[in-house]
Amino acid sequence: MGDEGGRATTVSHGDRPPATVGSMAANSALADVRTALEAERNDLVSQLVGLGGATAGDHYDANFADSSQVTAERGEAEALAGRLRETLVDVERALGKLGDGTYGLCERCTEPIGEARLEAMPSARRCMTCASRR
Ligand SMILES: [Zn+2]
Repeated sequence: MGDEGGRATTVSHGDRPPATVGSMAANSALADVRTALEAERNDLVSQLVGLGGATAGDHYDANFADSSQVTAERGEAEALAGRLRETLVDVERALGKLGDGTYGLCERCTEPIGEARLEAMPSARRCMTCASRR
């Protein structure tokens, strides 16, 4: 209810185009990451726009008699928007690091984050060890 299934679209591995390029050049891997990050950024932005429209639009005017429910739904949307914004910051940051050549390195210990982790989470900022240590 009220979620509209928008959250499910953020996690979508498995539908990447088949690798037709024979070379395993590091550059193509990075281009792949950039594409994935840019797609995620677009997705996050459009979700945020959608949420903004939902909270400011006239959806709520239709039945604002039940104002406690409106408040709850709005709070939920704002919480979701907050999480989306945090993820967006990470994605932008990862794109920035792609630009200056530090992408894939842990921000805490500067060791490589690891391919598997980056594949699962392209916007990861720390290696598995540092992330679990906090
Ligand atoms: Zn680390």
